[in-house]
This record gives sequence, C-alpha cells and structure tokens, in this order.
Amino acid sequence: MAAQLIDGKTISKTLRQQVAQAVQTRKQQHRSVPGLAVILVGKNSASEVYVQKKQDACQEVGMQSYLYRLPESANQQELIELIEQLNSATEIHGILVQLPLPEHIHTAQLLEMIVPYKDVDGFHPYNMGRLAQRIPLLRPCTPKGIISLIDHCGIELKGLDAVVVGASNIVGRPMALELLLAGCSVSITHRFTRDLESYVRRADVLVVGVGKPNLIQGEWIKPGAIVIDVGITRDAQGQLKGDVEFDEAAKRAGWITPVPGGVGPMTVASLLENTLHAAELTDS
Ligand code: NAD
Repeated sequence: MAAQLIDGKTISKTLRQQVAQAVQTRKQQHRSVPGLAVILVGKNSASEVYVQKKQDACQEVGMQSYLYRLPESANQQELIELIEQLNSATEIHGILVQLPLPEHIHTAQLLEMIVPYKDVDGFHPYNMGRLAQRIPLLRPCTPKGIISLIDHCGIELKGLDAVVVGASNIVGRPMALELLLAGCSVSITHRFTRDLESYVRRADVLVVGVGKPNLIQGEWIKPGAIVIDVGITRDAQGQLKGDVEFDEAAKRAGWITPVPGGVGPMTVASLLENTLHAAELTDS
C-alpha cells in the first residue's frame, strides 16, 4: 500500500475532545448546556444505530440529548408541530430529523420548518444557500467532516481538480460546494454521467458517496490522489463496504480513507461541532 491512511477515528476523537472542552468551559461560565433534539420516525434498524451513536457522542462530550420517537404512522402535521415546539424550546440548540422518513412524509418541507440557526444537519435551504454564497453558517455534517479530515492531514486543496461522485443533497452537492469554497476546480458526477472513469482518472481529489461497493475501480485512481470514500453498504456477511476498490486504490493514491473508520466518525464529530456552534449562536 503506497497511500497514507486517513484515520477518521483518531481525528474525530481529537475534535470530540475539543468540543468536550468547550462544553466544559460553558458550564464553568454558567452558560447553557448545548442540547440536541433528535426526531426518529418509525422503525429502521440503520437509523436506530445512527441515532444511538449520536446520543452516545452527546453524552461523551457533556451535551444534553433529547430523543423524540414517533410511530411510522405519524403524519406531516404532527411532525411540523413537534418541530415548532422544538424551535422555541430554549434548552434545545440543535434539531435533527433522522433520515430517511416514511414515504408519506414530505421531507424537504419538514426540514424547512427547522429554524435555520438550530439546523445542525445543515440541510435547510438557508444553510445550503449560505454555503453556496461563501458565507457558511451551519454546514452539512458529512462534507464538513471531510474538509476537517483533509485539513488535519495538512493537505492544501487550492487549485486541485476535485471530482465528486454522487449528487445527493446530503453528501455530493454540499461536498462540491465545500471543495469549491476551498479553491478546487470541481466536477460533480451522478447516475446519468456517461464516462465516470474519465472523470475519476483526472481527479486530484476524489470524493465518492453513492452506496455501490467497488463502483470505483482501483486502477482508475490518479497516482497520488486523495481518495475519500463516503459509501457505506453492509454486505451479505455483515461487513461494511465502501464504494472504492480499496486495496487496488491504495496502491496508487497518496491518501485514502478506510471504510469503516474514515468518514463515518467525522460525520458525528461535525454534528457535535454544529450543536456547539448553534448554542453559541442562540445564547451567549
Ligand atoms: P443517495 O442515494 O441519496 O445518492 C446517491 C447518489 O449517487 C445519487 O446522486 C446518484 O445519482 C449517484 N449515483 C448512483 N449510481 C451512480 C453511478 N453509477 N455513478 C455515479 N453516481 C451514481 O445516497 P446518499 O444519501 O448520498 O448516500 C450515499 C452513500 O454514502 C451511501 O452508501 C450512504 O450510506 C453513505 N453515507 C455515509 C455517510 C457517512 O457519514 N459516512 C453519511 C451519509 C451517507
């Protein structure tokens, strides 16, 4: 393996310690304890695991977490009312709706109900718009975590050719905006892209968030490239798989993230950072 491994577990631990220190300082100054409200609708085993991780992380850094469980049958109006209540609750600084929601719920409309300065997932059009306009406030967690990973490795992004594979609202699109903000020339590819290989071959920075194991062949990787694998798929043996053919890619890349232990832990660390930031925004 030629590539240096980007260790998201270790880097995220450092970030969590920084957040814990800031929470501690707030407590010593008799300021409020940052509070995160998580809304979980229905029963989805992956969502249960993610929500548990987020709650554990809050507890670890001394934040307060509040879980609002609603049945699969919950309707749009009930969810809107809950969000309105949380928007005005002073002990809640961050509101997170665990996705995906049941099909009968209008997700975009619901996310827009969260008051932007409590939108710790950073999915509200206000926060996405601020990122697009180079004045980010609360930034989507996974792309923010990826930029933190790259920063921690001391990599200078300015001027690099970046390719983002996948164009979802939560990964690909905000990732492209982050890379643009960092000074990269950015291409975004998606399910309709005709020649994915040609894009990947010229990427100095490659970020892949699709959810298809081995979509990116190792031999496509440009020598020395920074390869960030966001994909998480559980295979038949229960193992977590990324979207990049890791062993082959690692022979060519300069830097590469593993799955698991790369981007995943950073997403949770960014959520904690955003919740702290939201607390700083809403009270002094
Ligand atoms: P999504 O299904 O919303 O989006 C997938 C994107 O991939 C779409 O834009 C689609 O056009 C694109 N795509 C599909 N086939 C393609 C192909 N052949 N070539 C190029 N692009 C293609 O998924 P998502 O919510 O963005 O998640 C993507 C992956 O990232 C999933 O595996 C998910 O589990 C993972 N994820 C990980 C984290 C983390 O913290 N590590 C966070 C969010 C998502």
